[in-house]
Amino acid sequence: MGWSEALCIVSFNHAPKESTDSVRVRLKGLSLRGFRNLEQHDLEIPREGAALVGNNAQGKSSFLEAIYYLETFRSFRGARDDQLVAFDQDVFRVSGTVESGAEVGGINTITAAFAREGKRKKATIDGEEPQRLGDAIGRLAAVIFSPADIELVSGGPSERRRFLDIVLSLNEPGYLTALQEYRQVLSRRNAALKAHQPRAAVIAWNAGLVRSGARVIAARLAWVEESRPSFGACYAAISGEGSASMTYRSSVALDGACSEEEIEVAFRRALDESAERESRNATTVVGPHRDEVRLRLSGSGNGLDLRAYGSGGQRRTAALSLRLVEAHTIRTRRDTEPLMLLDDVFAELDAGRSERVLELMDSADVGQVVLTAPKESDVRVRKDVLPRWRIEAGRIES
Ligand code: ATP
Ligand code: MG
Repeated sequence: MGWSEALCIVSFNHAPKESTDSVRVRLKGLSLRGFRNLEQHDLEIPREGAALVGNNAQGKSSFLEAIYYLETFRSFRGARDDQLVAFDQDVFRVSGTVESGAEVGGINTITAAFAREGKRKKATIDGEEPQRLGDAIGRLAAVIFSPADIELVSGGPSERRRFLDIVLSLNEPGYLTALQEYRQVLSRRNAALKAHQPRAAVIAWNAGLVRSGARVIAARLAWVEESRPSFGACYAAISGEGSASMTYRSSVALDGACSEEEIEVAFRRALDESAERESRNATTVVGPHRDEVRLRLSGSGNGLDLRAYGSGGQRRTAALSLRLVEAHTIRTRRDTEPLMLLDDVFAELDAGRSERVLELMDSADVGQVVLTAPKESDVRVRKDVLPRWRIEAGRIES
């Protein structure tokens, strides 16, 4: 085993400490009402998790979508809330009881509900509605792996920005607030540019833009730097051939700036320098909304951009590595062993790669796993421990 592989297993296999400060999250119960094609259910989720087996279009992804909704209060498939409401219903409601052990034996109930009428969305934690939806996110501590993850690698820069924004909103206190503030100031500033308002009216937004924007860039940069070794290690361990690297490329010339204060200075300078370009384009041309995460092959194929030059398998491997790194972030930042949701993920890896992912997943002391597969023979992760559930036309037989 090379050093990089060891690092991946170590990072993946970061066993929760026995001491009280590390926590293993466990979804104990799930109740479903009016969500997609799923029937009304009140399910008890086994300690190890479950493998949900069923044909296409029976509701497997919908089931994981419902669970993950309790983490982010939105669809992991990017669907609008009204699309999640069963066709013949007006409201959906998903509720989960989660044992997090934050306090010994601590159990929380996370509930999400959405009504078509007035597009009303409500989240509650133990029956109480937090002030903002943002205060309710990240309570479940789950990571979802899906075939669509390949878009994280194949898609444009906005896909990877969204990935970063979600990971950091869930794991870095204050990030979501800074991001929302940034977006708000940016849209006002862009409106001023678009309306060709006097320069002073544009510059008036700079202070707010720089403050929130620097916070966003600093957090992203720190995460990418800190996650780079485990990303490379996971990629190497799964691919069994080369490795890959991840770098944050900012539209702001950072020149080595990495603290929030240094980035503020650099961002202010970049705004000054781009004055002509932004009025020509009538939009703000520098800032975190224009930044990129570059994923590249290293070793053989050194430096090639995975998005442009990666094979299907290489891109899948990189996407899987990003999710493994996300799980690792939950372990390190929240000191919690996440719930792993795997939506039929091994379908398109070659035999060698899927064997190595399996080894990683099975050797690792991961927590609860809920996975889906079209056929019994596709249940390969933890195949000897996970209870088998069947799903047909939205009805789950546990
Ligand atoms: P596959 O194996 O093909 O990925 P799946 O089991 O994951 O299939 P889902 O994506 O969960 O299937 O979809 C299950 C069914 O639910 C589909 O037939 C879909 O058209 C249907 N569906 C989607 N949205 C709704 C909704 N709002 N109300 C009722 N049914 C819906
Ligand atoms: Mg599916």
